[in-house]
Amino acid sequence: MTWFELIKQVVRVPEAAAYYGLQVSRNGMACCPFHDDRHPSMKLNERYFYCFGCGATGDVIDLVARLFDLSSYEAAQKLAQDFGIDPDKPPAAAALPKPERPLLKAYRQEEVRCLRVLCDYLHLLESWKVQHTPKTPEDVLDDRFVEACQMLDYVEYLADLLIAAELEQRVKIVEMLNKDGLITGLEERLESLGKEEQRDEKEQAA
Ligand SMILES: [Zn+2]
Repeated sequence: MTWFELIKQVVRVPEAAAYYGLQVSRNGMACCPFHDDRHPSMKLNERYFYCFGCGATGDVIDLVARLFDLSSYEAAQKLAQDFGIDPDKPPAAAALPKPERPLLKAYRQEEVRCLRVLCDYLHLLESWKVQHTPKTPEDVLDDRFVEACQMLDYVEYLADLLIAAELEQRVKIVEMLNKDGLITGLEERLESLGKEEQRDEKEQAA
């Protein structure tokens, strides 16, 4: 086990967040230190964090690196020092938390991916709703405005559940989103829309 892995195994994200001054609620939510966040929108799971507001995400080392503007290596050193982990004398195997079951680990990665795609989509819909609001009652409705009206509430609802619901419910949502390649399709669409937008911006700038 590498030193980085050792630290990630021993120090849980909510524990580190609380230690460095974040107010972590019992359901693992905290105000995000990386954007102006008045209502807790950062979810702290045992092994990773995800901010619903700004998309900040990572493991315990990433969190500390960003909080204190450190390199990963320095952040790992800081964690080792603050949590009394001696890299030369790793704790006995029995004292370590059991390694995560591979299935659970794969599920968690999938959950983070779903949440990231949903949040990206949500932000896009929000901007469409503003940008493409009809100016007069006679205007033909823009497809993007229609999609935003139809989808916004539902996507927000799904993202909220993925952040705050019990594991059992989250597993069901992730399953549902993966059925028929739904989330992959959405991910690809967002990617190509992002590329289009960049092209438009370049053309406008030229
Ligand atoms: Zn944030």
